[in-house]
Amino acid sequence: MEVIRNIGDLKKWRQSCRANGQTVGFVPTMGALHEGHGALIARSAADHPQTVVSIFVNPTQFGPGEDLARYPRTLEADLGLSNSHGATMVFVPEVKDIYPPGSDSWVEVLGVGDHWCGASRPGHFRGVSTVVAKLFLLVEPVTAYFGQKDAQQAVLLGKMVNDLRFGLTMVICPTVRESDGLAMSSRNRYLNDWERGQAIGLFRALEEGALLVNRGETDAKKMERVMRAKLHEFAPQAEVDYLGFADRVTFQPQVLVATPCVVLGAIRLGKTRLIDNILMGEPRMGIVGLG
Ligand code: AMP
Repeated sequence: MEVIRNIGDLKKWRQSCRANGQTVGFVPTMGALHEGHGALIARSAADHPQTVVSIFVNPTQFGPGEDLARYPRTLEADLGLSNSHGATMVFVPEVKDIYPPGSDSWVEVLGVGDHWCGASRPGHFRGVSTVVAKLFLLVEPVTAYFGQKDAQQAVLLGKMVNDLRFGLTMVICPTVRESDGLAMSSRNRYLNDWERGQAIGLFRALEEGALLVNRGETDAKKMERVMRAKLHEFAPQAEVDYLGFADRVTFQPQVLVATPCVVLGAIRLGKTRLIDNILMGEPRMGIVGLG
């Protein structure tokens, strides 16, 4: 497995893949890798002779007062995990490679990011779509792999790939969970034991919402109240950022819930913000953004 730290070397590496007729799969990450990332890497490695993992803590997707400075940086362990799941190259650019001094060009996807994480983190999705667009242009993958855990992000990026005709396929892989159901996340490292015990409340609340929908309940407000109660049963200290139901394509909130939909939530435990979701109804999220 190679480690490449600048764009010149990346371009040479990419050229040699092309010369050898090898397709490239791509897993963009912010590092602090866990088995959720591992599953994306393994999927890419099964599909392609070359798999690139990028590790870049993207400053433009963090708002003022968010956790950019303390975001976990664990490069040595990340290289080990990437290698053991089949990555053939890890790209670790510096901020100045991705944002040359004076850069002021942005990619913005309208609509999908209006609510939920987009509403609580202004500018977040603009940072995400911009960095992912830049990485796509640099790495030139045939396929890019993302996690369902960040479903709103995945759908927004799928729209970007379609709208801008990136000409690549996005594969969305299922959320990998701890044994109690907590979605794996780099931010779980922030949780102390007491917070970790409560963190499962988010998934339990989402499961409750899914159960109610499956029973035929349609009133989103009513279900949100039940979900809040379930959350606080497990996590009395949790602050709700949002809990609700969204359309699977537009991510507009559903007032009258109908499948297919996504039950989604974000909570704060201490200083840590956690998100999760459950997809309901067909089609499952699999491949989006055929460009
Ligand atoms: P991040 O490093 O948090 O920006 O995530 C990089 C990629 O890994 C994104 O596509 C995430 O959706 C995905 N990812 C993060 N956590 C999980 C998980 N628990 N299961 C599956 N994919 C995940």
